[in-house]
Amino acid sequence: MDKIKEALVSLDFVAIDFETVSNKPGSICWAGAVKVRNGRQVDSFDCPVAPAVPRSEWNPQNMRHNHVKDEDLIGAPSWPDVLEPLREFMGEDILAFHSAKSADISMMEKACEQYLIPMPVFDYVCTYEAAKLIYPGLSGSHPYNLGNLCRKFNLGLSENEYHTATYDAGKCAELLIFLARKLNANGLVDMGEQYTIRSVIGDASLPEDVRQVIGADPYGGIDSWVDRLFPEPSKPGDKCRVCGSVISNRSRKSCREYHCCTAPCVSLLEGALERAQRRLEHPVSFIQEEFSLGDTIIAGWLS
Ligand SMILES: [Zn+2]
Repeated sequence: MDKIKEALVSLDFVAIDFETVSNKPGSICWAGAVKVRNGRQVDSFDCPVAPAVPRSEWNPQNMRHNHVKDEDLIGAPSWPDVLEPLREFMGEDILAFHSAKSADISMMEKACEQYLIPMPVFDYVCTYEAAKLIYPGLSGSHPYNLGNLCRKFNLGLSENEYHTATYDAGKCAELLIFLARKLNANGLVDMGEQYTIRSVIGDASLPEDVRQVIGADPYGGIDSWVDRLFPEPSKPGDKCRVCGSVISNRSRKSCREYHCCTAPCVSLLEGALERAQRRLEHPVSFIQEEFSLGDTIIAGWLS
């Protein structure tokens, strides 16, 4: 958790992308990565990988798509020999992938499984998921794929280099930096929090004045929000702010403090505030913690 806290102060991470020679996720043929410090790319990693599938299974379509030629892979190191320097390059950084779970992480898993080596443990951000959260409902065909997002946000896209590992890792990094700047976030954790505040104050199910109070003091908590909303208890004749009925002089003091007519109206209001607080305390998780495989590898060793 400490390194996650540290990532709060600056945009530091390593973005990674893999290419494969076939549709089998374990058939990695290229590993690319870029290192980002304070929101700038400072280093890169680029290495061909000898695919762990027979030559007969290499798919020419994949290879055209990835710009990988047979001769590029002659004498290439195998996955375990690439993973070692890649791990060194990753260090303790939070990693970024585009389509982490469905693509790159499952490729890593499969490749490690094939060689019976343990999957590295890391925390990561998925730029596909992050873009979907921050820009929901984009239209068009595959609007959230890396190329289309780069085009949409004018991040520049070289069609010749697109779908090569290190280039794509660089684009994934640029996209993450773009999304963080969009939210005025100082770091990856901050990014998640910024997003949550926006989603809470944009929540149309909360009344406008409640949203304003939360926006002004997002971490103040329910008591502080209630104090700001209702500096004084309601007076007889005022309207209940939940149901609109007139508050009588027989209304309980605990209800009048919330400008509500009865206890059920108070609990509706409290419920809305509690939901907002929960969302702020548990921000949308941009960072998926501690990814590790384990079970299948251990089972593999034991059997
Ligand atoms: Zn009421």
